[in-house]
Order: sequence, then C-alpha cells, then structure tokens
Amino acid sequence: MTVHAAVRKPSERLAALKPSATVEMTDRVRQARAAGRKVIGLSSGDPNLATDPRIIAAAERALARGDTHYATPAGQPELRAAIARREAARCGAAYDPADILVTPGGKFALLAALMGALEPGDEVIVPQPGWVSYGPCVRLAGGVPVPLPMLDRVDPAALGAAVTARTRAVILNSPANPTGRILRADEIGAAVDLAQRHGLWLIFDQVYADLAYGEPVVYPQTTDGGRQCTLVVDSLSKTFGMTGWRLGYLAAPSILARPILKFLQHSIYCVAPFIQAAGVEALALFDEVVPGYRALFRGRLQCAVARLSAVDGISCSLSDATFYLFPAIDGDDMATAKHWLDALDVAVLPGSAFGDAGAGHLRLSLTASDPELDDAFDRIARAGIVQ
Ligand code: PMP
Repeated sequence: MTVHAAVRKPSERLAALKPSATVEMTDRVRQARAAGRKVIGLSSGDPNLATDPRIIAAAERALARGDTHYATPAGQPELRAAIARREAARCGAAYDPADILVTPGGKFALLAALMGALEPGDEVIVPQPGWVSYGPCVRLAGGVPVPLPMLDRVDPAALGAAVTARTRAVILNSPANPTGRILRADEIGAAVDLAQRHGLWLIFDQVYADLAYGEPVVYPQTTDGGRQCTLVVDSLSKTFGMTGWRLGYLAAPSILARPILKFLQHSIYCVAPFIQAAGVEALALFDEVVPGYRALFRGRLQCAVARLSAVDGISCSLSDATFYLFPAIDGDDMATAKHWLDALDVAVLPGSAFGDAGAGHLRLSLTASDPELDDAFDRIARAGIVQ
C-alpha cells in the first residue's frame, strides 16, 4: 500500500483570514517609533487611560493571597454577580449570574457567542462599516459573514433582504466602531423583529456603551422579545482603560449559556482569578471613575471636530459616543491615511479597513494626549487630504 505524504501547510481556515487592519497599523506605528520617528498614534482602539491604581492594587492583593490557580470556567461568582448588577443598573436587564460567562476580553466573548450559535456554513449578518474582527470571528466559528451596509442607519428593508435560509444570527454594535454612532430605537426594534420572525440570534456588542454622551443607548435585551434572542458582548477594556488585562463577558439566554460554557472549559479554561479580582474592584469604582473618562473623551471629540471641520475636504460631525471620529473626506481614504503616516507621522485608519461601506472616511481614535492631538491637527491642516 502506498502512503502519500501529506503536504504540511496552514489550515485553510486560518490561511484565508485577513489580518486585522487595526493590529497591523498598531504594529507599524510601534516599528516606526522604534526606528526613532515621533508618530502620533490615532489608530488604535486602546483608550490609553492608565488603569486606576485601586484596580491594580486589587489584582496585587489577589496575587499575594494565592489566587494563582485555575478559577471556575464560567467566572468567579463575585464578578458574575457584580456584572449582573451592572447590567441591571445600566439598562434594567435582569440577568441570573448563571447566564453570565467571564471571558478574556470582549473579542473572546464574541467568538464564544458565535461558537454557541452557529452550525457550519451558517450565515451571519455583520455591520459595515464594522469592527474588523466580526467577519474573521464568524469564519473561525465555521460561519459565513454577510456584510450589511449601515453607515448612517440600519435599513429594515435591506436587513430583511439579507436574510436567507442559512442566516442564523445578526451582529449589531452600538455605540458603533468605527462611526461612534448609537443605533436608534427603531433600528434595534427592526433587528429584534427580524430575529423573532426568522428565529435568529442577535449578538449585541455594547463594549462602548459606557462612553455615550447624551443620546440614550438602546439595548435589545430590554426590548419586548429581545431578551430571549440576544447575546450580549461586553468588556471592561474601553470603560476602565483595561485593554491589556483581557477581561470581558457574555450575557446569554440560558439555553446557550450552558453549551457555551463547555467551549470555555475546553479552550481557555478560565480567566486568571487575580484579573477577575481586578474586575470586581473596577465595577465597584464605576461611579467614581467612569464619568471622568467620559468627560475627557467628550471634550476631546468636541475640539477635534472643530479642528477637522476647518480643513478643506473634511466633513466631520460629533460622535454620539466612543473616542472615535469618522469624518467623510472628499478624497481617497487609503491614500490619505498612507500619506499622513508617511509624511506627517500621524497614524489614522482608512474607512475602507472597516469594509467597502466605510470608503471615503477616516477613523481617528482620540487616544493621544491633548498636546499631541493639537500637533496632529496642525500637521493635518497643513497637508490636507489626498485625492
Ligand atoms: N467590539 C468592538 C466594537 C471593539 O472595537 C473591540 C475592541 N477594539 C472589541 C469588541 C473587543 O475589545 P476587547 O477584546 O479588548 O474587550
């Protein structure tokens, strides 16, 4: 019998994935800085806030008392209870802590949600422009992403028309990355209606919900019928300046929470218990620290809108939330982002990195210091945009 040697190669599943545009830009900025260039980074989704020292102290205390072993895969009871209280306080959704699963960041909560919801080949409607990891996470879970344009609004007719016999889920993100837009009640309502009519899951990514500036965030898990179909993805990354801690969670309908827990048991096992202790402290400090972060970003957004609006070919309105601006430009977004990095040492992301519906825009993440931002806007005003 002849045995043919297999060709050693990476799996198709990974080979076919696009690298993350945001991570690539962050790496490029890091390399440029290592080479001595003074790049102003307005491209990363890291709010660049120092984690509050009390949160760090809580992790240190947990380490010192020996919280260095496997934790419960679903998450420590104190943290899940604190998350349930936070959900109730924020939007009125009453979760049994048993339906809350602690994950290493919101990104893994998203992947876990998709692992729980999809059969191989199932389609998932994903927002466009939208966060760069939605499509790849759908693929990693064996599904097929179907991008739906929703730059300014979720069009109920377009949403309905995107549904096929294979559609299993819809991902919605509000407040949204990259636009900073909060989806209105009618948009959320249309998605909940659709999910009910077609038996779909709604995966709701609310990682920016704590950075909203007046306009109320509408939560599908609190709408009529929304609770049973919604999987909530959330994270402490953006709210508390804790991106590197990797701490997020999934709040799921009970029939999905148990199966998804098996995915956690067999993959990450658990989030480090001392990280979870930090999370409990962070949530306890919410009212003390978060309003200050919100005021900081809102002030920066207002200044930046004024500066950018004064530049020919840029039209910029204030975001409803987040620390992002997504101005439309009268030019080529890829060429402009490249030129600004190469010639101005200002790193932003082209809107088309978030899908075709983002073309003609730039995403600026206002996560640099105020003097750096001032400097960046001076340089941008001098260079303008590239046609
Ligand atoms: N959702 C959106 C829309 C995001 O922008 C991000 C981070 N950039 C995440 C989820 C995940 O963040 P983390 O994994 O740090 O919680």
